[in-house]
Formats: sequence, structure tokens, C-alpha cells
Amino acid sequence: MSQLAIHNPANGEKIAEVPADGAASVAAKARQARAAQPAWAARPLSERKACITHFRAGVVRDLESLAVTMTRETGKPIKMSRNELNGLLGRIDFFLAEVDRAIATETVFDEGGMKERIEHVPLGVVGNISAWNYPWFVGCNVVVPALLAGNAVLYKPSEYATLTGLEIARLLHQAGVPQDVFVPLVGTGAVGAALLEQDIDGLFFTGSYATGARIAQAVGSRFIKLQLELGGKDPTYVCDDADPQIAAASLADGAMYNTGQSCCSVERIYVHEKIHDAFVTAFVQEVKGFKAGDPMSEDSYIGAITRAPQLDVLDAQVADAKAKGAKLHTGGQRLPGPGNWYPPTVFSNVNHGMELMKEESFGPIIGIQKVAGDEEAVRLMNDSRYGLTAGVYTPNGERAHAVLDRVNAGSLYWNCCDRVSPRLPWSGFGDSGVGLTLSKYGIQAFTRPRAWHLRRA
Ligand code: NAD
Repeated sequence: MSQLAIHNPANGEKIAEVPADGAASVAAKARQARAAQPAWAARPLSERKACITHFRAGVVRDLESLAVTMTRETGKPIKMSRNELNGLLGRIDFFLAEVDRAIATETVFDEGGMKERIEHVPLGVVGNISAWNYPWFVGCNVVVPALLAGNAVLYKPSEYATLTGLEIARLLHQAGVPQDVFVPLVGTGAVGAALLEQDIDGLFFTGSYATGARIAQAVGSRFIKLQLELGGKDPTYVCDDADPQIAAASLADGAMYNTGQSCCSVERIYVHEKIHDAFVTAFVQEVKGFKAGDPMSEDSYIGAITRAPQLDVLDAQVADAKAKGAKLHTGGQRLPGPGNWYPPTVFSNVNHGMELMKEESFGPIIGIQKVAGDEEAVRLMNDSRYGLTAGVYTPNGERAHAVLDRVNAGSLYWNCCDRVSPRLPWSGFGDSGVGLTLSKYGIQAFTRPRAWHLRRA
């Protein structure tokens, strides 16, 4: 069996080697999951919920060591690792509270001896190919409702968050989910590709547009349920009646939290010309207060760039923006190693001729563009192939509504940003993906609604 080496992106050191799957073991595990799924689905929902409740208790019990593992393999600052795990508890609570209602059989018609019912049956065996940036959130957004709904799950964590993926498996198995019902697959993209070839009923993916497109092509003719949660180039517009200091503090955090490696990081900011200069000054000051350093340190806010190749993407966007006349306020050059480091980088005087304003950066870098008013802001916000989130800062609710209503994005924010709620659907327009997780619909996504036509004889 080959080994997968895990490195700490903050210092480049190898921290572990774990046995990796190959085509044969992926196929064997898929067969085992297929065999095990019916018995799992046949168990009462209360028993499946009890397993997830025990899983939650395991997360609470081991929270500190789980946070350290995540920080060591992803470079996420330790406080943010704890935040993710604590945030996960609320998501699990939501799923546990909502699942009975979401998948209960409904009678939708009952007249003259004729009844019509909708039953939610599990999809069967589902694959989940996951990302590294919020490995607990994006993994459990799929895994928890899929298991609750009675599916078996073949789970391929990112090769950059494998130790965390194996911890998710350990805690689920300890909580009573059978080994063949929740099955981790370890490896790089090749293992993900091998998973696509198995007899699965659904494929739930979180990652980049490029990989999502490859997956859609690979499974295209098989008519299995396909959900793709992909990248974004999320815009925010700061209106002239907003407080530039307050908006700058909120948006600096929205752009730089998790070292800018969030799917819903603020990636483009448009500011009304009347307050543009005050906003830029406040934003740069805010960003200069962010401390970069050892992710294990309690006061680090900027951690490591998890994937080394992303440094080249950031360098290229910076070079392109500079060459086309953008004004650099801070940062702009990778930091010396060991490890992968990039400082918070802020540009103004940007435009849509620059990659920085068009392609996902997925790092601590941001462009701020001056606009003349709401019409121009709406036009620029929609000038993107992505559509994950979008926001507006203004005290005027009607104005915010009028702007946001015209923006093509799955999540809309008024005076807030970079926010996900388990109660709301998480989805994207355009190249940000298809399907959704979270909310009651993100539970039903793991079922097939089946129609019953019942006539009393
Ligand atoms: P990625 O596409 O590089 O990898 C994602 C997963 O796909 C990994 O597990 C990888 O091993 C696997 N993979 C790679 N090639 C494959 C193939 N040919 N077949 C099957 N699987 C394959 O993405 P990433 O770097 O892990 O994540 C970053 C991206 O994810 C960003 O674009 C970010 O915006 C996006 N993201 C989106 C959301 C969302 O909810 N919309 C959430 C988190 C991250």
C-alpha cells in the first residue's frame, strides 16, 4: 500500500505518513458500503440520531486536540480552528433538530378514498469529495445529513486535511456508525477519480471550479445526483451613507479571515467615490493590525497558505495588477519560508481588466474599486462567472434590498459578510456550483422524494 505524506504548511515539516487507497481498495470499500447501507437505512431514525449525538459529544471531548491537528496540517490559526469546531456543534444541533421534519413522509392529498404521499428515501451510497479550507464544516455539511437520512458515505477528504478526515471517521465509528457505512478514502485527486468510477447514487463535491468541471464530465452520462460547491469571487459594495470605519473593520475581517482561504471570503470591494479614500485608509490600517505568524500561537491572525502552488497564483495576480496600474497599499510579496506565507495585500485603483478582480484569489489579497453609484456597483458585482455571495453596507434597508435583489448570488448580506448559517441554504449561481447544502433542503438533498398514489379499495 502506498503512503500519503502530510506536511505542515507553516514550516514545511513532514508530520505524518498515512496508508493511501488505490483503485482496488476503493472498489472493495464501495462494495462493502453498498452491502451495509440497507441495514443502516432500516434502523430507526432515532438510532441514527443517537450516533450523531455521540459523535457531537466526541467532538466536544476532543476539541482541543482536533483543533491542533487541523492547525498543523492546514496552517489555520489555532483560534480559528477552535472557532470552526465550536461552530460545527451548532450545525450538528440544527441537523438533529430538523431531520425528523425534513424527511418525514407527508400526506399532501386525502379526498374521496384517494391519498397522495411523499416519502423521502435515502439515495443509497453517496460519495463525498471534500476541500481542506474548512474541513469540518464542508465535510459535515454532507456527511451528517447523509448519514441521518440513511445513506452510506464514501468520504474522500482533501489530501491537505487527511488527518482531520481520519479524525471525523474515528469519532463517527466510536459513536456507533458502522465501519462500512462511513468509509474514509485516503489519497490525492486520483483516489477521488477512482471513487467516481464506483457504483454510487450521488456525488457531493466541495472544491475548485476546475475539479468540479472534471467531475461533472466524468459522471455526466450516469444520471446520479451531483452537487458541486465551488469557488467564488465574492463582491461587496460600500454605499456613500455607510460608516467607512465600521465597514472597513468588518470587510477587512471578511477578506482576511482564515488567511483569505474561505469560499465566501470577500474578494472584491466597490466603494462609493464619496467615501472611497476614507474607506481605503481605514481598511489598510485595519489590515496592518493583523498579526501573521506561527498558527499555533494564540495571537496569530494570518496563518500559512495551505497549498504551496497558490503562492504562484497570488504572485501572478499581484504582478498583473501592478503592471496595469493598481496602487499597492501593503503586502504584495510572498514572505520568506520555511513554509508558505503571504502577507495581507491591499490594492486600490483596480479594474476588471485585472485578474485580481476576475479570478478567485483564495488568499489574503483584495482589490478596492471606486464606483460612482449603485448602478455601476450592481453592474460590476454581476460582472463575474461566479455567484456565491454578495453584500452591501448601508444603513438604508430599502437601498440595500434594491441593490442585492439585482445581484446574481446564492447568499446576500446586508451589513455583514463571510457568514454561513445552518438554517439557510448554501448554494451558488453560475460557476459557483449546482445543488445546495444546509437548511432543510440540505437534508432533503440526501433523499429521493418518492410519490405514493393510494386508493382505498
Ligand atoms: P480542489 O478542487 O483542488 O480539490 C478538492 C477535492 O477534489 C480534493 O479532495 C481533491 O483530492 C479532489 N480531486 C482533485 N482532482 C480530482 C479528480 N480529478 N477527481 C476527483 N476528485 C479530485 O479544491 P481545494 O483546493 O481542496 O479547495 C479550494 C476550492 O474549494 C476553492 O475554489 C474554494 O472556493 C472551494 N470551496 C467551496 C466551498 C463552497 O461551499 N462553495 C467551500 C469550501 C471551498
